[in-house]
Amino acid sequence: MFTFTSIAVYHQELKDNHTSCVEAVKHFIHQIETKKHLNAFLEVFADEALVQAQKLDEQRAQGQKMKKLHGVIVGLKDVISYKDHKLSAASKILTNYKAVYNATVVERLLAEGAIIIGRQNCDEFAMGSSNENSAFGKVLNDADNERVPGGSSGGSAVAIQAGLCMISLGSDTGGSVRQPADFCGVIGLKPSYGRVSRYGLIAYASSFDQIGIFSKNLEDVALTLEVIAGKDDYDSTVRNEPVETYSSAVTQEKKYRIAYIKQTLEHPYLNEEVKAAIYDYIEKLRQAGHRVEPIDFEYLDYVVPAYYVLTTAEASTNLSRYDGVKFGLQTKETTTDLTDFYKKNRSAGFGKEVKRRIMLGSFVLSSLYYDSYFTKAQKVRQIVAQKSQEIFSIYDALISPTAPTTAFKFAEKNHDATEMYLADIYTVFANLAGIPGISLPLFKSKLGIPFGLQVMTNQMKELPLLNLSRQMVQIKG
Ligand code: GLN
Repeated sequence: MFTFTSIAVYHQELKDNHTSCVEAVKHFIHQIETKKHLNAFLEVFADEALVQAQKLDEQRAQGQKMKKLHGVIVGLKDVISYKDHKLSAASKILTNYKAVYNATVVERLLAEGAIIIGRQNCDEFAMGSSNENSAFGKVLNDADNERVPGGSSGGSAVAIQAGLCMISLGSDTGGSVRQPADFCGVIGLKPSYGRVSRYGLIAYASSFDQIGIFSKNLEDVALTLEVIAGKDDYDSTVRNEPVETYSSAVTQEKKYRIAYIKQTLEHPYLNEEVKAAIYDYIEKLRQAGHRVEPIDFEYLDYVVPAYYVLTTAEASTNLSRYDGVKFGLQTKETTTDLTDFYKKNRSAGFGKEVKRRIMLGSFVLSSLYYDSYFTKAQKVRQIVAQKSQEIFSIYDALISPTAPTTAFKFAEKNHDATEMYLADIYTVFANLAGIPGISLPLFKSKLGIPFGLQVMTNQMKELPLLNLSRQMVQIKG
């Protein structure tokens, strides 16, 4: 029987002829079928994946060397373009749309021998924190089917949690990789803004969006990052810094200077169990020889409003391209007026949350309110960036809860947008500052629900981030 623990173990088993890529693909197709009720995948590319696996097995039989991601089975959040395959952003507005090119990350995965197994469910246009906003139904948390998997990359997190693929790629604009990873008990990394190309990623809020990685182990996160990161002629926001060998460098034994923001742990929204677990864990970090100190950040309550003003503003312009003219949903209703035609398509195609954000974004950008909202939010972003630089001039890392609660129940928060938005209180800081963040699955609640802890470092400091993370997962929560 096929079992998956890590890419290194899988590759060794391939070398020893104990398994094959075909066997691996068959295993995951079977798992996806068995766990269909979770609704993690919108489409499975079963036949193609098998053909690809066959090819890889033949290449190896002919003595070809294995590439970094030889036969590694990857799922893509349905906002990442895979040429000639459907791409929906979990929205009706993209009905029957097919990607016309590969995202840079997809090109790089394929070039290293990865096999793309399917498209993963998510919140519509990556907007949400619970996966209840998908046009194709909610995704269930495999730890408790009455609970949300988190969002917006819920399908990608559950696919790892339930063993439906080896690696998932998601996107993180305000926490959409880290928060679902937290809720599902897996690892979720959001790299620095500019570390990974966004070319071929459906835009939500372009100055925040970043592609991230889900896995059950850090070595595989490091290896995948090494493959997908780095300069890209198609995305000028990618930084030029060379890609470090994250996979081989995650071995140093270094003691770190770690900060935590007092206000995050003393926040009234923070669940008591999560709070106690993290205070407890801070002691363990100290016992392990790391220096952990409290710091102040008096503007914590401004980060969520600032994030939602800026991202909805960007979303309102990014989503203006979906008008049903050249692609996507076109309603059958007849009209001779062009504006009316747009309205009909957009009204029928977008879901409630996406509409809310387009309206909110248009409002904060309107001339009368621009200064009171957009300009103010930009100032908050500036303060966050300054604070972040101040922190990292003294400390190597910043830790916090990933989310204020563990995975909540369906329908618990979706009646109140503000309450849902507050689920992002700890994750948006990293997006506002452009720094990397990772959620590590360290804890379990009394009810058996997994939750984690977030670690952040300075921009482009993924190497120490992964190194410290490796030490942290060894210190049990
Ligand atoms: N929950 C946040 C939002 O709804 C984050 C989304 C994301 O990171 N894509 O905007």
